[in-house]
Amino acid sequence: MSIFRPAYGHFSFRPFFIGLLFLGAACNKPSQTTSSPPVMQPLSLTPPARLAKNIVLMIGDGMGLSQVSAAMYLYPEPLQLEKFPVAGLIQTHSAKNLITDSAAGATAFSCGCKTYNGAIGMNADKKPCPTLLEQAEALGLATGLVATSSITHATPAAFIAHARDRASMEEIATFFVITDLDLAIGGGMKYFSRRKNDQRDLIAELRAKGCVVSDFTTGTLEQSILTLTPRQPFFWFSSEDEPESVEAGRTYLPVAARMAPTFLAQRSDKGFFLMIEGSQIDWACHANNGDRAVREMLDFDQAIGEVLRFAEKDGNTLVIVTADHETGGMSLLRGESKDSLKIKFTTDYHTASLVPVFAYGPGAEQFGGLYDNTDIYFKMRKLLRFPELPSEEDKK
Ligand SMILES: [Zn+2]
Repeated sequence: MSIFRPAYGHFSFRPFFIGLLFLGAACNKPSQTTSSPPVMQPLSLTPPARLAKNIVLMIGDGMGLSQVSAAMYLYPEPLQLEKFPVAGLIQTHSAKNLITDSAAGATAFSCGCKTYNGAIGMNADKKPCPTLLEQAEALGLATGLVATSSITHATPAAFIAHARDRASMEEIATFFVITDLDLAIGGGMKYFSRRKNDQRDLIAELRAKGCVVSDFTTGTLEQSILTLTPRQPFFWFSSEDEPESVEAGRTYLPVAARMAPTFLAQRSDKGFFLMIEGSQIDWACHANNGDRAVREMLDFDQAIGEVLRFAEKDGNTLVIVTADHETGGMSLLRGESKDSLKIKFTTDYHTASLVPVFAYGPGAEQFGGLYDNTDIYFKMRKLLRFPELPSEEDKK
């Protein structure tokens, strides 16, 4: 008998294991079988030493371990990411796919649901699921969304909107009027003001609600925030369509990361929930452009530094940095000389690789280990002391 484990042993085991994972995938019902009663909290967390008043969730879209490594090795100074005392890993699969897209990936964070690829704030049964941001708003916390994509793009959208399809950008934009968001910074102005499917002017509607809305045509974000008052919600559009890359001159992400926590803290004394996305790490990796990916990583890292500076001074702010999935199957290989690095990609789409989670602040210790992307939602809820939601059974 050979002492070597046959190669197929590994492969026969894996699908079975993944099948088990999917059994527990229904939204808000992380129990082992569908017949057992719904359980709201799937995790038996030990009570945190301290609870968080504010949470900043920072999502590097497509930011796998290779993307972090490339930025670390190619930038001469230490990264802000290296400051985090806690690191963990998450598996990112969606309800039926080992490889998630950004919509299902963000819905896992925003609703605690494993859902289908393309779903925005919808569970696997295509029913709207309450997002953490909506719950925060209902409890009187201030809320904000910042992205370097259009603000209606999959990741920010999943925190505020409920749409069956991520491509329904104009439908998604209407949720920014419905929800009393305190701050929104990103691109995609045309989905608000030059709509094709109806005649609504959502910017006029936001202004009628008392929001200050400004955009790239009247100056930079830095100039726009000079006249800002915390008495009014603030929207700033960086572009009509998708914002440009850092390479092409985009500069607003670190500026937004500096102003957003201070602004939101002034908007409510109950605390705030802020999501900041470095959206274009993903796009650079889809394009298999390693240089651009590193530049987007460094821009995102600078934004992380701004948030950490606030959190360190504030003492009640939990900062979580993670990714929805890895993009590009990035590998770091030896370059021309033995101390240089060559970035190679193995795909132009996402991969199933585990992605990192970094945490700092009250409750950070809860984010170590290896767990599911949906657990990020349950951990955040627990640390913010949000009351349990009525289960589907209670609603009947
Ligand atoms: Zn992508």
